[in-house]
Amino acid sequence: MTTSPHRSIEVPAGHGKAVRLSAGQAVRVVNTHGTQVVDCWAWNAYNLNEYMCMETTRVWNQRLNPVMGDTFVTNERHPVLTVVEDTTPGVHDTFMAACDRKRYQLLGVRGYHRNCCDNMFEGMFELGVTPPRPNLASFNIFMNIRVQPDGITLHTLPTVTQPGDYITLRAEMDCFVAFSACPQDIVKIQGQGDNTPKPVDIVVLSDEIWPIEGTRTWVPDAG
Ligand SMILES: [Zn+2]
Repeated sequence: MTTSPHRSIEVPAGHGKAVRLSAGQAVRVVNTHGTQVVDCWAWNAYNLNEYMCMETTRVWNQRLNPVMGDTFVTNERHPVLTVVEDTTPGVHDTFMAACDRKRYQLLGVRGYHRNCCDNMFEGMFELGVTPPRPNLASFNIFMNIRVQPDGITLHTLPTVTQPGDYITLRAEMDCFVAFSACPQDIVKIQGQGDNTPKPVDIVVLSDEIWPIEGTRTWVPDAG
């Protein structure tokens, strides 16, 4: 069986998928309908206790949220993914915890509601891989969380992406990357309109080379 250099996978609305990338490969996340928030996690392919970490990434880049060219690092402070393309207005989030069962209980849901944490496991289980624990600190692609003028208050808003907008993440190490097309249908985060979760597409890119180095860790100026 030949492997296409462009392997496209649909993430059904409200579900999860995962891929394994070798260093240098990339994955493009396409907001097919333009309205969908996508939660993202990554792990060192050889050590699932080393995971993409939002806290260390904010230190590394000295930014609240990543922009084009920024690198995500792990809890071991090793580069894992770099943003090499972004056709969106550049609005993504690293602050909001991934939704889980308890979040929906707190929102008043009785019974089971699909959620990003379970979707993360769903996607990884399909690859035969079991992450050691849920990680609430996801990279929330296309999610629109605005810091208010007081500098400390957050405002949750719908996505600002257009249909077909995408972001591409290059692997800096061999890694697993999981995605959840967020099932959130109570808090209004899913674009304009009826807040209905929609499918997205992920595309594994194997042969592209981007003239982007990624970021090195920030260190304060001496003196
Ligand atoms: Zn979610």
